Amino acid sequence: MPTNLRLPAALLAVVLVTAACGSDDTLGAGGQPLFRPAVHLPQGQAAVNRVDPDLRAAFLDAKDAARADGVTLVVNSGWRSPAHQQRLFDEAVQKYGSEEEASRYVATPDESAHVTGDALDIGPPESAAWLGEHGSAYGLCQMFANEPWHFELATSPGGTCPEMLPDSSYRG
Ligand SMILES: [Zn+2]
Repeated sequence: MPTNLRLPAALLAVVLVTAACGSDDTLGAGGQPLFRPAVHLPQGQAAVNRVDPDLRAAFLDAKDAARADGVTLVVNSGWRSPAHQQRLFDEAVQKYGSEEEASRYVATPDESAHVTGDALDIGPPESAAWLGEHGSAYGLCQMFANEPWHFELATSPGGTCPEMLPDSSYRG
């Protein structure tokens, strides 16, 4: 991943994201992933503007198709700064008691597809379900069985998505 190419934009964005970003965790009590709508919509818009251009284009195509089906796709999280991702990971370590357990729910900055601009978290749940069903037509795939909201550009349009991993710790 050419993450170094994104660093200038990342540095410029840190102030904005830090100002706008609350907790967008997707972790529920008792270890169950929980969908929770983001409460910081401006960051959501910035997040989608900073993802990989191909991912953004695929998402916008899918969003149009969803709208034709009466479904609204909302980006709850997209690009995240390394610092933001670290905060999310640190929170998960506190919640789950170990880095190993936390990594099942939140990737480290070095491993997160959000930090490289290669992932979008979609809501609400019924909209994510629509994308899970129709996303491959646009190359968009659910990657982890325990994150039905998390999508990446992982196949060609109309292709077959890779088999889901149980959770993000399997990618490391
Ligand atoms: Zn995600």
